[in-house]
Order: sequence, then structure tokens, then C-alpha cells
Amino acid sequence: QGSIRFSDANIVYPNGTVGMKDLNLEIKPGEFVVIVGSSGAGKSTLLRAINGLNKMTSGTVEVDGEAVPQKDGRELRLLRKRVGMIFQDFRLVKRLTVMSNVLIGRLAHVPGWRAMLNLWPAHDKEVAMKALERVSITEKAWVKASQLSGGQQQRVGIARALAQEPAIILADEPVASLDPVTTHQIMQDLVRINRELGITTLVNLHFLDLARKYGQRIIGLRFGELVYDGSAKTVTDED
Ligand code: ADP
Ligand code: ADP
Repeated sequence: QGSIRFSDANIVYPNGTVGMKDLNLEIKPGEFVVIVGSSGAGKSTLLRAINGLNKMTSGTVEVDGEAVPQKDGRELRLLRKRVGMIFQDFRLVKRLTVMSNVLIGRLAHVPGWRAMLNLWPAHDKEVAMKALERVSITEKAWVKASQLSGGQQQRVGIARALAQEPAIILADEPVASLDPVTTHQIMQDLVRINRELGITTLVNLHFLDLARKYGQRIIGLRFGELVYDGSAKTVTDED
């Protein structure tokens, strides 16, 4: 559960920009992978291909041996339930409680008024509480998201992903808006959760020193091309 495979994958945006070039890559279930590269290197293009937000120009991307659907619809929605996303800008709904935010990903079909009134099925509330526990933020469950610090918001972002009970977590520059201390806390949370739950985790990072510190496997991208794939121990700036 949670394997990913790119085969001869290319993504060219409508304006001609190359987002992904001839990518061949295999990620095994439970791996913790850091993708590193400067701005525009193709990191988020790669992540967004895995849950079908970006369509392939040629080649394929598979999750657990099944091609990621290249058309929006039911099959793609089912895949996305198994893929949790974490964003640089957290993407919480500020006027809703933490609980409602955590359950939005899990219960996308639930009407908005239930979110407003915090009317959630007991079982889902339990799942959400467990997710909040993993990031040590249960005491904020009934607080509005607008009242949280950046680091707390990102922990809620992680909990929202976990509440989907995903096979894969995709984190797109999850620490780029955070201060250094909070950055390390969030990276440690991601590493620990990967170890505890075995969820395949891909984290995009801007900085090589962070990648080295936390990546068990590091993938380097430049102009959409894979330029490094190896362990944190041997990677250098040259790569
Ligand atoms: P990174 O996440 O490493 O910053 P991206 O994957 O966002 O890189 O972008 C890779 C390249 O594709 C960049 O040149 C970027 O400008 C381009 N790009 C990304 N999204 C689009 C888009 N929707 N339309 C056109 N070009 C895009
Ligand atoms: P941007 O224009 O900033 O690149 P995106 O295209 O990444 O925004 O996101 C499009 C929408 O899809 C966003 O509202 C985002 O919250 C949502 N989204 C992305 N991935 C998922 C997911 N795995 N589950 C639910 N919603 C998602």
C-alpha cells in the first residue's frame, strides 16, 4: 500500500513550459522521500501528478500498480481519498473549528452547514481526535483555525491529511512559511508519523540542508529532470 511509479513521464504545460522530463522513478510503500530543487525545478509538478492534479503529457504514473486516472471523475476522487496533501500555506478554512477542518478532507461530501455547526458522526470525530493526538494538538479541536499560529495550523494540516487514513502523504513545501524552530518540529512530526504509521511520504523542500537532515532518500530535480536519487549521506550541492 502506497507505492508510486513514474514511467517515461513527461508534463508540458499548455504554455510550453516543461514541468517534468522523462521521469522514471519508483517509490516503495512506507518510504520517506524528500524532493529537493530550486524554485521551478518541478517539485510540485511531481507531487501533483500523483493525485492527478497535473495530467501527464506522455508516459504514466501509477499508484499501487494502477494508473492515476487522467480524467477528473469518480476514479480520481477515490484515489485522492488515499492521498493526503499538506500545503505551504496550510489551506485551512479559518472561520471553521480545527475539528471541522480536519474532517473536511475525510468527509468532502458533507454539506457546509454541518461543518459550521460541528455536527460530525461520532466515529469520524474519533478518527479526527486520534489524528490531532498524533501531532499533539487535541486541546485546540474546538478552537477556530484563525486563532492558531502557523506551526499549529500546519499540525492541523497534517492531522487533516491523517484523518483521510491515506496510503500516501504529499507535502508541498510544508515548512516554507515557518520559522526555523517550528520547521524542525514539523519535519520531526512528519518523520515520526512515517515511522509510526508506515504511510509513504513525499516532502518537497527548498533547502538541501533540511533535506539532508530529514530525508532518508533524496530526489533532486532541475528543470523538471531527475538529477539525483540517493541517500542523504552522499548528496552534495554539486548534485
Ligand atoms: P517547484 O515546485 O519546484 O517550484 P513547479 O513544479 O511549480 O516547480 O514548476 C515547474 C515548472 O513548471 C516551472 O517552470 C513553472 O513555472 C512551470 N509551471 C508550473 N505550473 C505551471 C502552470 N500551471 N502553467 C505553466 N507553467 C507552470
Ligand atoms: P494552486 O492553484 O495554488 O496550485 P492547487 O491546484 O494545488 O492550487 O489546488 C486545487 C484545489 O484542490 C485546492 O483547493 C486544494 O485544496 C485541492 N486539493 C488538492 N489536493 C487535494 C487532496 N488530496 N484532497 C482534497 N483536496 C485537494
